Parts: sequence; C-alpha cells; structure tokens
Amino acid sequence: MMAVVAVYAYVTQATLARKWLLFLASVPVALIGNVARIVGVALMAVWFGTDVALGAYHNYSGYIVYVVAVLLILETARWIEKLGGRKHATAAEAPSPARAEAAPVVGARAWAPYGVVIGLLMLGMLALARMPEVRVSDRTALSTQLPEEVGEWMGTEQRFCQNPQCLKAFTLTNLHDSEVCPACAGLLEPISLAEKQLLPSDTVLVKRCYVDSAGAAVYVTIVFSGSERSSIHRPEICVVGQGHTIVNASDFTVNIGGGPPLRVRGLDLELKQVLPGGETHAFRSCFDYWFVGNNRETPSHLQRLFWMSYDRVLRNVATRWAYVSVSTSTAGSPESGHERVKRFIAAWYPRVRVADSPATMPAPPPAPQ
Ligand SMILES: [Zn+2]
Repeated sequence: MMAVVAVYAYVTQATLARKWLLFLASVPVALIGNVARIVGVALMAVWFGTDVALGAYHNYSGYIVYVVAVLLILETARWIEKLGGRKHATAAEAPSPARAEAAPVVGARAWAPYGVVIGLLMLGMLALARMPEVRVSDRTALSTQLPEEVGEWMGTEQRFCQNPQCLKAFTLTNLHDSEVCPACAGLLEPISLAEKQLLPSDTVLVKRCYVDSAGAAVYVTIVFSGSERSSIHRPEICVVGQGHTIVNASDFTVNIGGGPPLRVRGLDLELKQVLPGGETHAFRSCFDYWFVGNNRETPSHLQRLFWMSYDRVLRNVATRWAYVSVSTSTAGSPESGHERVKRFIAAWYPRVRVADSPATMPAPPPAPQ
C-alpha cells in the first residue's frame, strides 16, 4: 500500500514537500483501512459465524479496504494540492524550479490521477490475489497432555456412551474395566456423541475429571481449535443447547503463581430433569471458562474474535486457540462451586500453561473437494 502511494505521490505531486506529505498520509490511511478490516471480520464473526467471516469475507475484505484506502489517498492528494504555495515556499527544498516545471503540465495532471489510480488498482488487485495463504500456527498455548494428578487432585479419564438413547458419562474408576456402557452395553468413547458430531475433524479435544481428597469432582475440557474453521463456539450457546439454563454469569480472577491473575467467566447453570419418580429436579452446577491463544488469555468470546481477526489480517496467522472449561456440581458441599474451581485452577493451570509448546496436533485432513 505504502509503496503504491510512494509511486503515486512521486508521479502526481509537484514538490518534494507535497510528495512526502502524501506519502506520510498513507500511514494513517493504511492504519484506518486495517482497523476497519479487523473490526469488519470480527463483526462478521459475531453476526454470521466464524466460518463466513474467515471464508468469504476475509478473502474479499482486502479488496474493499484497498479501494477505500485508494479513495482516501486521492482525497488527501486533492487536499494537499489545495494547500497552495505557502506551505512548500517555507520548506527547505528549493521550490521554485519544481513549481516552474509544474505549471505547464497542469492540463495533463487533471486526468493523470485517474490513469494512475486505475493502474494502481490493478497492481493492488494483483498483489492481493498473490497474497500468501493464512499460515496456521503450529503452536498451542497449552499442553495437549493433561497431568494425571495435581497436588490433592487425582485425575481420571472419562468415557461417554454413544447410544443416543442413553448418553451416560462415566469415569474410568466407575467403569471397573468395563469396555461397554454398564447401563445399555453401548459403545464408549473418550468424548461425548454431541461433541463428536459438532466439532470439525481437525479439532483436538482433551478431557479429564479430577477428584480432590474430600471426593469433590471437577470436569476439565480443552478444545483446541482446528486449522481452517473455528471449532470454538460461544460457550453460552453450547450450554443452553445442552438443556441448561444460565442463572447467573460473572467474571472472577484466579491468582496463578507470578504474573497477572487469570480472568475467568463463571456461569451458574441449572438443568431440570425428570426423576424416575416423576418429579422434576433442578441440578445446579458451575461452568467456568476462558480462552488462551498466542500468549493471550481472555474470558471474553468477543475479545477472542477480535484477536483472531487481528492475527489473521495483520499477521496472516491462524492462531490455534484453546478453550478451557472447568465445571463442577454445586450440590451437597459447603464450598461454593466457583470456589472449588478457583482452588483447582490455581493448582492445575500452571501445569498446562506452557507458553509456545509445540503442537501435538494430528495433521488436518485434506480439504474435501
Ligand atoms: Zn449407555
């Protein structure tokens, strides 16, 4: 963009001062253009989903912003020409020969900008068409291997019944070496049927259940986003989709040894289920989450979308985001659910937060075509 403006300034502006002025004007114009693009991609992600935002819009937004930037530069050039002689008369450069030279070509300069603009637009389109593909970061911010035990917390893997009529979840300890679902003899998998159906195949999902010395359990899930499509959905939509009602939502912080405290979004959930006796019971639980990517942490889905757009647009990098959620039941314990989660995160998180750990992702499958 700036190279293009440099050529344009050189061709159309009479004096060195004006050439520089127009060239310097391209800095804020390029900045405005890119900010508009990042905001645009993020807004598209909010309104139409990340697939649309990162697909079509990301590919074409560059052209739109380029055209807008060129128009802004044209307007700036016109404005600089209107500044008159005073400005460059006081400039250090020798203005007189340049002005004398400039005078006879006034007629030519009236149409020259349009020719230059058309040429530049074509050059710009060509450059954009040859722009490198977005590079997928091969690093994850968190370890994809969860620790087996952390302090008093003992980890155990979970198994999920894949029978749509059953869908029960078990810990390996509960299963007592059973290979099939103890309730319906259905197939067991490390992730639930819903997760399996919902997530693109290049998404990596790790889960573990941790139990403290008093027998209280927390359930951890980390979703590592895949290469092209975003596999991370807004958590509020997912939990409601699973039948929960969000009773309350608020942020809290957890002090992790050294460094700034971690900000976590805490949801209080209620799940109404009909008991075998016929009465309805409301199961209360806590669902706490945050996002990690490229050494950034945030509890805000919107913030994550902006950072994702920023990395895509300005750095041509698709950051692999990790979406961490920790949930626990709030029934039958004097300790509040969020307090338990806080206590767990403080012990567990430093063990998985490995800045720039190499990804142990399976290679994404070839694009279907
Ligand atoms: Zn089952």
